[in-house]
Amino acid sequence: MREDTTKHQGRRRQLVDILKDKGINDKAVLKAIGDIPRHLFMDSSFEDHAYQDKAFPIGADQTISQPYTVAFQSQQLIVSPGTKVLEIGTGSGYQTAVLCHMGAEVYSIERQHELFRTSLKRLPALGFKAKKLIFGDGYKGFAEKAPFDRIIVTAGAPFIPEALLAQLSIGGKMVIPVGEKNQKMTVITRTSDADFEQLVLGDFRFVPLLGDKN
Ligand code: SAH
Repeated sequence: MREDTTKHQGRRRQLVDILKDKGINDKAVLKAIGDIPRHLFMDSSFEDHAYQDKAFPIGADQTISQPYTVAFQSQQLIVSPGTKVLEIGTGSGYQTAVLCHMGAEVYSIERQHELFRTSLKRLPALGFKAKKLIFGDGYKGFAEKAPFDRIIVTAGAPFIPEALLAQLSIGGKMVIPVGEKNQKMTVITRTSDADFEQLVLGDFRFVPLLGDKN
């Protein structure tokens, strides 16, 4: 059984300081990053690097997002206890855990079966209770439980999927990196049934949001 040692906890505190220096100030986000053992979401061979502010491979050609990216997206999302969130791209489950720790009711979709299966076991084993982990295509969202107060996309989207816009509640927000090679972090707010406001923030680099044909 892999453990969370005082050494890991110390490194996490240093990571929290790095994120504060980079402009993360949402207390619930910083608390989540300080509390959650990121190394247990990664292969043991990367364990010693888990608290560097970097992305790492998690299998199936995918990566666990850089802590700054997770913190930035979580902060932009504006989550409080009970917020109903749809996440696209469960991956390692780390971002899912951050949202659960913040008190969100999280639905998360993953299209790689191996990663889906691992997170399905890992999250409850570490004490995180997502509302539902779904094996499927995030481009389609999860109509069964729509609308969502928040939608977070954790892979680079070549365009903004219509189904996700349709599944956003009025007043709801989506945080989505948009672009092919590099992405612009984009925050979309649904202001009425037919109206959306869009705010474009900085550049990020994600693995691609893949569709049926990839
Ligand atoms: N939040 C994750 C990020 C993983 S990388 C973490 O921090 O670990 C992005 C993830 O999106 C990958 O696991 C990838 O398999 C998944 N993904 C890509 N396209 C998808 C799609 N259409 N539907 C659902 N998941 C998708």
